Amino acid sequence: MGTTANSPVEITFLGGLGEIGRNCAAIEIDGRIMLLDCGLMFPDDDMLGIDVVLPDFSWLIERRDDIEGCILTHGHEDHVGALSYALAELSFPIIGSALTLGLARSRIEEAGLLGRTQMIVVEDGERRSFGPFDCEFLPQTHSVPHGFATVFHTPQGVLLHTGDFKIDLTPVDGRLSDLSRVGGLASGPGIRLLLSDSTNADQHGHSRSERAVGSVLYDVMHEHEGRRVITACFASHIHRVQQIADAARSHGRVVAPLGRSMRKNVAMARQMGVLHIPDASLVDIDDIDGYEPGQVCVISTGSQGEAMSALALLGSNENRWLRVTPNDTVILSSHPIPGNESAVARVIDNLVRLGAEVVHSGIGDVHATGHAKQEELKLFLSVARPEWFVPVHGEYRHLVAHARLAKIMGVPAEQVRVAEDGDRLILDDDGLRPAGRVPAEYVFVHGVGDVDNSTLRDRQILGNDGVVAAIVCVDLASRQLVGGPEIAARGWAAADEHDDLFATMADRVRAAVTAALAEGQPTRSSLQKVIRRSAGSFVGESTRRRPMIVPVVLEA
Ligand SMILES: [Zn+2]
Ligand SMILES: [Zn+2]
Repeated sequence: MGTTANSPVEITFLGGLGEIGRNCAAIEIDGRIMLLDCGLMFPDDDMLGIDVVLPDFSWLIERRDDIEGCILTHGHEDHVGALSYALAELSFPIIGSALTLGLARSRIEEAGLLGRTQMIVVEDGERRSFGPFDCEFLPQTHSVPHGFATVFHTPQGVLLHTGDFKIDLTPVDGRLSDLSRVGGLASGPGIRLLLSDSTNADQHGHSRSERAVGSVLYDVMHEHEGRRVITACFASHIHRVQQIADAARSHGRVVAPLGRSMRKNVAMARQMGVLHIPDASLVDIDDIDGYEPGQVCVISTGSQGEAMSALALLGSNENRWLRVTPNDTVILSSHPIPGNESAVARVIDNLVRLGAEVVHSGIGDVHATGHAKQEELKLFLSVARPEWFVPVHGEYRHLVAHARLAKIMGVPAEQVRVAEDGDRLILDDDGLRPAGRVPAEYVFVHGVGDVDNSTLRDRQILGNDGVVAAIVCVDLASRQLVGGPEIAARGWAAADEHDDLFATMADRVRAAVTAALAEGQPTRSSLQKVIRRSAGSFVGESTRRRPMIVPVVLEA
């Protein structure tokens, strides 16, 4: 090694710091990059027509030859869902638990990109090197099984990334977060830098154990004996599926998975030995008519109210497998993630309208969060005792709340850094400091083709105030207005106001265009500006709205 300083470690945040979703970070040592997750974000209500939001991969594409691999901390979409887009541009191995890779695999396969990656399975507690990255994978409890905290043993000491976690002391599978190893690292080499999940950093107290949900589900099924039960939860939440199945079986019900991802994940998790439902208790959704309602428990996808999901189709009576009746109890074993509240409420309304009784997290404790609350975050900080701290995975207020907790727990204020998407940090012998920025805009996906911010702004204007078109035909050589103005509008004003508004607006546009033609040597684009200005000022004055103005200049 000689007398040179230790290699620095650089950390670049491509997503997840400032929103819940599109988690992606790059750890860099000696010019090589290890990615940590590659997730997507579901759009907010104001992102009109957008299917998903991705990290900006442009910086990674520039560095394509330097990517050693991508560690997947767990199988949630906000951590693995962008791989099928990244692998279209880039090629690298993905590293994770068998279940995580199994969950990540299907979208990559659907995109036809399995050939551009290699899946490297790592086990709980395993330590393994990938190029300059000496990594160790510690079990974490979360709302999908077999998630990891990742330890990087670097030339700058131990960097620990918690992954998504809660401290569940009675997890359904008995696989505890490895706090003793975290403590061993803290009192051994010491933890130089901790990056920790901030999702619930503004929630006081301690999250409930996943196991506590099981007894509530048992009670709800008991109360609803004799009725058909339809449950919904995340298809990746294998432990929740397990508890629903256990509660159902103890009431003499068979279990029928509904929805493509639920059927697929149940089959995969049973095959991997992560989910235990005996063959005799598992029936195909096709066969449930052979059972009394009180002997059936359907486990469905669609707990977030997703359009076209099995549950949404049940609500609109369009599910090809079954119809909801007043003899059904629907249990939403979930909590709407931000942005999905109104979609979930709509599905609940539809189910209630069909006569079903609906039990959701607002009524009973049929859900527990997968993310640590303040007391757990403090506990983790007290065990890890990091020298430097950066909160990750959260909206800005969550990151700031977590930074405050770190200071309370004794991390010196100047060694707590709140970073955001696009920030680069460098950890060297002198400590952790900012090292510039990389592009980290939201990248919108809408079917095929790109949607940029200006397209979205246009959609918002169209949605709020509509569109007004003003069409003229001119002869530029003789500087004459030869046709129009014709005015057309959609979504701007009530139809019975149109005649008056259109006539006055046509007068204003005609006067402006005629004046411009008389004055000088107008071009099509200068006339478009004249029309936009005259039409725009008129609609502003007359209706106090700001519709999109589309000026059209035709040449005779
Ligand atoms: Zn997660
Ligand atoms: Zn997450």
